[in-house]
Formats: sequence, C-alpha cells, structure tokens
Amino acid sequence: MRVAVAYEAGAPLALEDLPEPKVGPRDVRVRIAASGICHTDLNVIDGHSALPLPIVPGHEACGTVEQVGADVRRVRVGDRVLASVSPACGSCWWCMNGMSNHCERGPSVQQKKRFALPDGREAGAVCGCGSFAEVMVVDEASVVAVQTDLVDEQLALLGCGVTTGVGAALNTARVTPGSSVAVIGCGGVGQSVIQGARIAGASTIIAVDLSPGRRQASLGLGATHTVDPADGDPVEQVRALTEGRGADFSFEVVGRPELIVQAFDMARIEGAVTLVGMPAVGATFELPALRATFSGKRLQGSAVGGSQILRDFPRYIRMAEAGQIDLASMVSRRITLDEVNDGIGALRDAEGVRTVIAL
Ligand SMILES: [Zn+2]
Ligand SMILES: [Zn+2]
Repeated sequence: MRVAVAYEAGAPLALEDLPEPKVGPRDVRVRIAASGICHTDLNVIDGHSALPLPIVPGHEACGTVEQVGADVRRVRVGDRVLASVSPACGSCWWCMNGMSNHCERGPSVQQKKRFALPDGREAGAVCGCGSFAEVMVVDEASVVAVQTDLVDEQLALLGCGVTTGVGAALNTARVTPGSSVAVIGCGGVGQSVIQGARIAGASTIIAVDLSPGRRQASLGLGATHTVDPADGDPVEQVRALTEGRGADFSFEVVGRPELIVQAFDMARIEGAVTLVGMPAVGATFELPALRATFSGKRLQGSAVGGSQILRDFPRYIRMAEAGQIDLASMVSRRITLDEVNDGIGALRDAEGVRTVIAL
C-alpha cells in the first residue's frame, strides 16, 4: 500500500510501497477515504514535536473498517469510522470522568510503531493513526463509528482540527451569548474556534491573522471583525473593537510563546484566555506575576478542545448536518496522496484553511 513517510526533519515526505501493518487483537484496519493535513503533522515533520522520525504523518481521517482484531468491540467490518487525534478507551478513570481527551491508553496507542520500512527500521504513526496512506491500522480506541451523509473530505476534518477548535470555544472556554471573542491564528483550528464562538452566540468575533486570505475566510465563518497584526499592535486593535476593555474570551491558536502573552493581554480584566495552539517542545512563556494575579484573568489550556470523542463526534456531525458547523468552507483544496508534499507546502505558507487528501 502507498504510504507517505517522514524520514528526516524538514525534508519532503517519501512515498513508499509498504506491506499493510499487522492487525492485533485490539486493532482495526481502516481503508482511508480522506485525510486532512493538520499543523500537528507539520510540527512532527519539521522535528518540532517529541515524536521521533521516521514516522507516518496524518491523524485527521475517515474511512471504512475492513478488518477487526478478536477483542475489538467498538466497531465492525463495514462501519464508516472517524479517526481521532486523541484515543479514548471509554473505560479508564479519565474516560469515566469526562476527560477522555486524557485517556490513560493514549500514550501507548499513540507511540506504537506500526510500519516496517524498506531499510529495516520501524516507523511510528502520528497520534497512533498514520493516515497519509491508503490503509491505516489503529487501536479501536482511536476510531468512532459514525452515521452521516457528510462527504469524506468534510467528515475527516472532525477528527482533529474542527473538534479541537469548536471544542475550545464550547467545552473549554464556554463562550457565552453576547460576548466578545478574539482569536489569534486563523488556520483550520482557529476558524473552528470562530465557528464555535458563533454557535455559542458571541456578538463580536475578532479574527487576528497576518494572512489576508485567512482573514477573508474568517468573515464567512463567523468573524465580525478582522485584525491585521501588520497594521499595529494587535492588542490595541482588539481593545479598540471592545470598548477599550479587551475581549471577554481570547484564544491563542498558533502555539507561539509571544502570542500566548498577546492573548493574555487581549483578554479583558476577569476574562478567559484559552491556549489551543501546539507549542514546540520545551517552549516557555513569561507573564508579569502581579498583573496575572490581580487582573483576575483565567488562563487555561485546551487539549483537543476538551472534546470527549464518543460524545462529541456524533454531536459535531449533527451540528455540521444542521449547517451550524460549516465544513465545506473549511476545505480549501483537495489533493491526491501523491501530491501530499504540495499540501504540506501550502500549510507551511499559510495558504488556505485546510488541504485534504482524498483517496
Ligand atoms: Zn491535528
Ligand atoms: Zn480511557
């Protein structure tokens, strides 16, 4: 089967013909229909994550189950499934307590080496999926069976980016009706935060991004205002749009320490600052301690948008079917697996919202 492998940090992916991975007792073999290209893949490909290379990127995917291991209970052959960036076993302490985005099986599922390379080495799979391929073999904790008529390239986006962004607004920040929201970084996840804020009823939604194309796209997805950081201090620009106070809710969706500090400054006194972007391993940020304390601001991380995939995948699918989540506008480009390096290039250049590999 065709697989795109990242061998060396920053180098183009190599398209290989590899044997299909073995299906263990708790594994599911999925024929992939579509796979989005996410910023996390780019972080891994560029060697900015903790995951070692070689590795097969891709973790935002949907497809059809072709084979299941003897102990698999969650899905059956023939099921249409959505793969998840964040595995959830459904029975550990975290899964039972509404924190399945921190499922205790997550690390072992995500670190498994699935692929045998021609040079004799083994390769892992990003987030335990490795969906830049025709077929993936994943733990059953990584897939949820879905019933929907959504087309493949739209459904795939719910596996990571859309779920992370919409969840950050609805689950983590709990954006309220009539509120003001500022979002720094408007790629696939940032646009999904904007959609989540619109669904929650925010009245002022400010999209902050250097890319004119992304600022324009945000207006179609729910943003009421855009801010170009090149036009002057974005914190001052956001304050000017929020009666001088700053936003009720701010979101950092890039993962850069200086932008985290900017998001903190953009939130009003007693506002909420939500960190969604994936920082490089080892990155740190500094805040003035006095202001951090007496501003009363709430600073919170958001892992996969606080999403509980067994609850939220079906919920977000219904929201997409009802037109509340606009997935069609999120897909800026459809490519084949052979064109995967073009898609990665577009992401690197911050072109478009989401490129999807359709198989
Ligand atoms: Zn992702
Ligand atoms: Zn679990």
